[in-house]
Amino acid sequence: MNNPSSQAERPASQDLKSLMLPELKQLIADMKEPEYRAGQIASWVFGKGVESIDQMTNLSKTLRTELHKHAHISQLHLTHQSKSRRSPTTKFLFELEDGQTVETVLIGGSQRNTICISTQVGCAIGCRFCASGLAGLVRNMTTSEIVDQVIQVRRIFGERRPINNVVIMGMGEPLANYNNVMQAVRIINASWGLGIGARKITLSTSGLVPKIYELAKEHLQFELSVSLHAADDKTRSLIVPINKRYPIKALMQACVDYVTTTNRIITFEYVLLQGVNDRFTDVKNLGALLRNMKYKLNIIPYNPVKGLPFETPNERRQTAFIEALHSAGIKVTVRRERGRDINAACGQLRLEREQATG
Ligand code: SAH
Ligand code: SF4
Repeated sequence: MNNPSSQAERPASQDLKSLMLPELKQLIADMKEPEYRAGQIASWVFGKGVESIDQMTNLSKTLRTELHKHAHISQLHLTHQSKSRRSPTTKFLFELEDGQTVETVLIGGSQRNTICISTQVGCAIGCRFCASGLAGLVRNMTTSEIVDQVIQVRRIFGERRPINNVVIMGMGEPLANYNNVMQAVRIINASWGLGIGARKITLSTSGLVPKIYELAKEHLQFELSVSLHAADDKTRSLIVPINKRYPIKALMQACVDYVTTTNRIITFEYVLLQGVNDRFTDVKNLGALLRNMKYKLNIIPYNPVKGLPFETPNERRQTAFIEALHSAGIKVTVRRERGRDINAACGQLRLEREQATG
C-alpha cells in the first residue's frame, strides 16, 4: 500500500528525529565518518532537542555540511498552550509541517509529570463519545512527529517539570499507525534517545486484535491498556464501532495471548457513561468476562464533549457502580480529575480550536 508516512520509503533527506541509533550509524557510515558520531548526533537531537544541524557544535564543519545534504530535523510548531485552572495540567496544540494540528497534554506536579501524546491526526475508529473520532482520520503521524511532542514539551519546561511517564492516549488509534508508533516508542525508551523506562510508557488501544498479537511478539516491556468500555457486544458495538469487526470474545483471546506471551498485566479502560454502561448488568457481565484474567480495571468518568449525547453519571451513581464492582470481586481503580484532564486531550482542544476558526 502506498502510505506517504511509512518509514519504509525514506526520502533522500532523512529526518533525524525519526531514526534509531543503528540507522544513524548507517547514515554516518555512508558518509565515511567514525561510528561514534552517530551517538553524538542522537544526543543533540534527542537529548538536547536542537533545532538545526548547525547547533551540533562538536561535529566538524565538514561533517555538518555533509549532514545537511542527507538529513534534516523536522519541527512541530506550538500554536496554543493553555493551563487548567483545576489541576497542574497544561495542554499544547502543535502544528505539523503540513498545517494539520494535534494535541499533547502534560499533567502532574513539579517532579512527577505524565505526557499524553497523539499518534494520528483524527481517528478512523469513531468511538461515539470521543472528540477525536468525530471528523474521521486525516492521516497517520510520522515517527518524528510522535517523538517531537515529548522533545518540545521537555524543552518548554526543562528541569522545572521533568517528564517521567508517557501515555499514548492522545488523538488517534496507535495500533492503526503501528510501524511509526513502534519506532517512536523505541526512540522514547532508548538510553541514546529520550531515556524513558519502558514501564513508564503506556499504550492504549481500542482493540485492534491482529495488532495486539503482533505487539505481544515485540518483547517490549511497556504497559498496555485496552479500551473495553462495555462487557457485552451489543453495548460495545454501539459505542466502540471496531467491536463489530473484533468482538469481545476475539479481543479477550488476544488479551489472554498478550498476558501469557509477555507475562504483563493489561489495564482495561472503562469510560463511565450514564445509562449506557453503568448498569447492574454491566457489573455482572464484567465479572464474568474478567474471571481468570490477569488485569486491572480502570474506571474513567466520562469527560463531556460538546454536541455528543452522553452524560457522566453523578457521584452517587459512580460510587454505587464501583462498590458493586468491589462486591463482585473485580479489582478496580478510578481515575478522577487527573484522568479527566488527560482524556480532555483526546481531540477536544483541537475540536474547540477548529470550531472557533470555522
Ligand atoms: N485510541 C486509543 C487511545 C486514545 S484514547 C484508545 O481508544 O484506547 C485514550 C482513552 O481515552 C481511551 O480509553 C478512550 O476511550 C478515552 N476517552 C476518549 N474520549 C473520552 C472522553 N470524552 N471522556 C473520557 N475518556 C475518553
Ligand atoms: Fe479513536 Fe481512541 Fe477516540 Fe476511539 S477513543 S475514536 S479509538 S481516539
